Amino acid sequence: MNDQSKTKHDLIQELVFLRKRIAELSQYESEHKQVEESLRESEYKYRSLIENMTDIIFITIDLEGKITFVSKRTKEILGYENEETIDRNILNFIPEEAHQSTMEKLQKGMEGEKIKHVQLPVTAKSGKKLFFDFSFSRIYKDGVVVGAQGTAVDITERKQIEDMLRQSELNYRQLFDNAPAAIYQVDFRTGKFLKANDLICEYFGCSQEEITSKSPCDLLTKESQILFLERLNQMVIGDKVPEDPEYEFVDKNGKRRWLKLNSKNIYDSKGLAGADVVAHEITERKLAEEALRKNEQRYLELSIIDDLTQLYNSRHFYAQLKREIERSNRYEQPLTLLLLDLDNFKTFNDTYGHVEGDYVLSRLGQVVKRCLRETDSAYRYGGEEFTIMLPMTTSEEGMVTAKRIQMELRKEAFSPVLGQEVYLTVSIGLAQYKPKEEMKAFVNRVDQLMYQAKKNGRDRICPEPQR
Ligand code: GH3
Ligand code: MG
Ligand code: MG
Repeated sequence: MNDQSKTKHDLIQELVFLRKRIAELSQYESEHKQVEESLRESEYKYRSLIENMTDIIFITIDLEGKITFVSKRTKEILGYENEETIDRNILNFIPEEAHQSTMEKLQKGMEGEKIKHVQLPVTAKSGKKLFFDFSFSRIYKDGVVVGAQGTAVDITERKQIEDMLRQSELNYRQLFDNAPAAIYQVDFRTGKFLKANDLICEYFGCSQEEITSKSPCDLLTKESQILFLERLNQMVIGDKVPEDPEYEFVDKNGKRRWLKLNSKNIYDSKGLAGADVVAHEITERKLAEEALRKNEQRYLELSIIDDLTQLYNSRHFYAQLKREIERSNRYEQPLTLLLLDLDNFKTFNDTYGHVEGDYVLSRLGQVVKRCLRETDSAYRYGGEEFTIMLPMTTSEEGMVTAKRIQMELRKEAFSPVLGQEVYLTVSIGLAQYKPKEEMKAFVNRVDQLMYQAKKNGRDRICPEPQR
């Protein structure tokens, strides 16, 4: 039917239909426009978000890993132009050593395994190796996975810091484990080791696990334990304590050894929590000090001991007597002094010679020593004269000692000539100290009594006459 043959009615009908259709179309068009508009808006919103992400690249890839989209920031971060990345496989931008792991991860991700974050190295256009943290999600088309989209965050700096931290932690660990010094951390609240390096464990013969159930104090000798606890107490109450304390311990082989501690307190919100301690072994130094002390002691003894008789010399006699007199006065304790002189010793010397005389003096020294108690002391006062100090002893009690010496010497046979036995006697003066008496006067008194014994016929003891 052509337009001429159409009836007016037909034309009207057609017009109504077209109007309706136009209305429908324009309705659809405006709806579409709205959708398009909102789509554009939303795309713009997301695209600008993607493009403006500071250190983030947005990327899409297909199933083979071919890049289908990268955001603008790619150029700024990696230096690649858009055309240098699009349609190229992602592996082109990943260093070879990471190819296999990258492909494995991508494949797993595409196959459905949930891979949230993957850290991969990426080579920038400049050749610089950067590190990115990739986060992918799959892209579906008609229910089938066709690729993946995700973000890649530049974590190069963070990784460098992490690596540095790890390295520094490793260095610290190595230093801690292999240091020539013993290092440990102690918890003051439990008193136990928190951490200890191999050397500390070796000293005490236990493992790193075992040592945390021990307290440093347990491992010390009794004397050092007292010092350790005193110091800890002082520290807890806030007193100043001596730095670098030295403690003795017994090692796993039972050997006594010394450590010098250098500790740094650790505080937390509740106060003093513990300490970081570096301990150096000082056993050798301590042994040298001990040897020196013994040597000094020996030297001191030698300087106050008479070679021939092995009794103390007269210099020490006066020093000791002064001390004993002070003690006697202070505590009102008795003190008795004996002065002993060999009888006719000149004759002995003249008859048998000086060497034999010396031998007598040395034997007399032994006899005297044998007759004394722990608190008594004997001195070679002069040539063949001896003094004997008896602290906390009255003259009556002193008589017992004097008689004992006299008796013992009587039993002592000397043989200055073969087949001949010679016996020697002594004259002894004896007196008790009078309170506040001058030292000189006291000695003089005893001296006079000894002479009195000589005068009275020798081989006798002359005490002060009873008042
Ligand atoms: P007495 O005391 O009984 O009056 O007579 P004595 O012969 O012992 O007299 P005196 O005390 O005067 O003489 C002391 C003698 O002691 C003189 C000396 O030969 C002797 N003498 C002193 N010191 C030593 C010594 O170190 N070695 C020897 N062998 N003899 C000594
Ligand atoms: Mg004499
Ligand atoms: Mg004499």
